[in-house]
Formats: sequence, C-alpha cells, structure tokens
Amino acid sequence: AGALYVVATPIGNLDDLSFRAIRVLGEVALIAAEDTRHSARLLRHLGLTVPMLSLHEHNEPARIEQLDARLLGGESIALISDAGTPLISDPGFVLVRELRARGRRIIPIPGPCALVAALSAAGLPTDRFLFQGFLPARSAGRRARLEALVDREETLVFYESPHRIRDTLADLACTHQERQLVLARELTKTFETFLDGTAAGLLARMDADPDQTRGEFVIMVAGAKPRTGEDAVSFEADALLSALLEE
Ligand code: SAM
Repeated sequence: AGALYVVATPIGNLDDLSFRAIRVLGEVALIAAEDTRHSARLLRHLGLTVPMLSLHEHNEPARIEQLDARLLGGESIALISDAGTPLISDPGFVLVRELRARGRRIIPIPGPCALVAALSAAGLPTDRFLFQGFLPARSAGRRARLEALVDREETLVFYESPHRIRDTLADLACTHQERQLVLARELTKTFETFLDGTAAGLLARMDADPDQTRGEFVIMVAGAKPRTGEDAVSFEADALLSALLEE
C-alpha cells in the first residue's frame, strides 16, 4: 500500500517549505487539503499540478474509505492544511487515527508550526509547556478554561484570531493578573512582532496602536510559580481534606 505523508507547509513565509516537503508534494498521486483553493496557490508557486481533494472537519470521516482505497491501490497521498502542521488545531486527526489503526504507513514531514516558532523565540520556559489550542469563543467558557489553568506551572500556549484577541486578553487580565505574557503576531510575515507584558499592559498597547490587534496570534503565558513551603503544605492538606470529604 502507499503511504500517507503528513506535510507541514508555511505559516506565512513560503521559503519555510522544506526541500523534502516540496519533493513529497511533487511525488504523491493526490494531495488532501483543508481548502483546495487556498492550497492551489501554494502548488502554483511550486509549479506543481497534483490532483487535490478537500479534507476538512465536516467531510473528514466520509473521506476515509476513499483515501484508504487509493492507498491500498498503491498510491501515496499527502495531507496538508491551510498553514503549518496538519492536526495541530487543524483537520487530520480522525483520518490519521483510522489509517494507523488499519496498519497504513503514516510519515510525518516536519516543518512550520506556529506554537513551536513562537516558543522558540519568546524567552519563556520551554522545558514544559501546555498547548491549549483555541480557547472557547464565548467569554463564560473562556473564563472557566482559564481559571482551571491558573495553578499550572507549565508555560501556557494558546492560538488566537484578531477578532478575539482583545476579549481573550481582557479575560486573562482577570484570571492571570500579574503573569508575564508574550504575544507572537504574524510569525514569519512582514509584520512579525513579539510583545511582552501583563495582559492589562498588552491591552493598553493595543489601545495606543490598533495595528497591534491585526493578524494571527500565539499567546504565551508564564506558568504559575511552584508552590513552596507553607503554601505546599496547606495545599496538600486541602487536597487531602477534600478527598476525605468526598469519601
Ligand atoms: N496548523 C497550524 C500550525 O501548525 O501552527 C495552526 C492552524 S490554526 C487553524 C491557526 C492559528 O494558528 C491562528 O489563529 C494563530 O493562532 C496560529 N498561527 C498560524 N499562523 C500564524 C502566524 N504566522 N503567526 C502567529 N500565529 C499563527
């Protein structure tokens, strides 16, 4: 059977496409793309004319048999998304899980990924981080998610769109008041910017310069300070007490 290549594509700068990605995209019989019109531009740029098929969250389960039949017929397929690494806040998980369960070969072609690029240049600890993708769109859900993360010691990483960046920062200003944040905007593009400060400070920067709300964002939040001494003891005592009460 053929293989499914999971190919990372640029998150802005087309020069970030790897030699291996270009070779694989040129060699496969079919490219499954999140948005075929969007990806057609990339293929045109590369001078490739490989047939494409759409694979997005609404048709992903329905595409499995069709794609697997092609693999079983000996053809190889590339999976790409609109930007960056497929499956990372992008379609592909259902397909990869199912094909792997059936014993097909799945080969990653690593490359751009906004969360890794952002972390690599932010200057926040990267030894442990917690990627949370997109927060819920409604404020109540977003607040609840953020509150549940307040005590996490890992660096928190979120994806955010220009439509919600202010609302999310406003919620972070309540849940993570004094915490250091780093905002990575428009990575690899002309207006790539890193800003750091508290959530309230970053909101003030956006008020002063509305251009700072444009584009795509990775929000990184410093983790909570590890609990020490008395704190830790009372925290453990609390946990023990609630466990006992539940019994
Ligand atoms: N699969 C992609 C990846 O590997 O990063 C992520 C896709 S997700 C649908 C899109 C989100 O990723 C954006 O809303 C933004 O949070 C983040 N993102 C993508 N490209 C970015 C860029 N050039 N600069 C900053 N954030 C970016």
